Amino acid sequence: MVRGWSAALALSLTVAAVGGGAPVAVPKTGTATGAPTVTAVSPRHGKLDGGTRIKVVGTGFSHVQQVRFGTAPGRRVHVVSRSVLYVTTPAHVAGRVHVRVASAAGTSPARFADRYRYAPAPQVVLDPGHNGGNASHPAQVNRLVYAGYGRYKACNTTGTATNGGYPEHRFNWRVALLVRRLLVARGIKVLFTRSSDTGVGPCVNRRAAIESTRGTDAAVAIHADGAPSNGHGFHVNEDSRLPEGATRATRQKSTILGRAIHYALVHGSGLVPATYVGNNGYNYRDDLAGLNLSTAPTSFLELGNMRNAHDARLQSSPSGRHRIAHAIAAGILGYLGW
Ligand code: ZN
Repeated sequence: MVRGWSAALALSLTVAAVGGGAPVAVPKTGTATGAPTVTAVSPRHGKLDGGTRIKVVGTGFSHVQQVRFGTAPGRRVHVVSRSVLYVTTPAHVAGRVHVRVASAAGTSPARFADRYRYAPAPQVVLDPGHNGGNASHPAQVNRLVYAGYGRYKACNTTGTATNGGYPEHRFNWRVALLVRRLLVARGIKVLFTRSSDTGVGPCVNRRAAIESTRGTDAAVAIHADGAPSNGHGFHVNEDSRLPEGATRATRQKSTILGRAIHYALVHGSGLVPATYVGNNGYNYRDDLAGLNLSTAPTSFLELGNMRNAHDARLQSSPSGRHRIAHAIAAGILGYLGW
């Protein structure tokens, strides 16, 4: 049967060839002829000076000659399969470009799915609360500074600690370092309000000034709470009034930033919304200089209760801090859409 089927097929092919006339030239564009198509690029945006590694998904990635961003050729093209390749972005001015794959069979047609956006890298300020030298410098730390709404507060405080003696300033510092590493890996510019965990201060109004650095897209204060041990969980502090330095538009952005981080904390940090303060992990205050005086979209986090055994276990362990830092970074990236 197989032999007979083959003979019949060969006959029909011969007939078709005889009846088909002269060979037709294969067109060099279009999707039916083996020319590439691009159905997805990821990430879909990156910085102006290039260097972002991009995954391109599509069809027809064989004999790839070039991957172009607008008219600029990408670098280090690595074709994994006929449907996946990697390429490093070239430098480009701000704006959207089509990512098009050129092969011997033609060039992928421009379409919505292949668009890539060049944008200036976002700038994020991280404010790890307190400092390791605060406890031994009471005069410096206790002097009063302006905290917003006509009130004055101590320059800074020492922070809390777990019952096992793990101090809040160290937790804040280590989480901030992890968040910074995750954001920098995505091409984001990150500023800190302090340069070590062994210094003094800076004062809360100075921290707010750093958060307000020109060009800041998001500022995040990183703290942990010290509350009665039967309560646990994180909370996002939000300003209960319009911050003195901020516009209504900025205040709305602060709310969205807080929600994005709250969502990420709920889904990945190992901490639940606080059971002992505020409402579902949100707490409204008007006595935090970092919120009152910042002119940038700002969120003030309390990442668990250090006096609670469950939260303290997370805060004191590298794996726990990783989970918390990944969630904060995910929330910031989600807010930035980056
Ligand atoms: Zn604190």
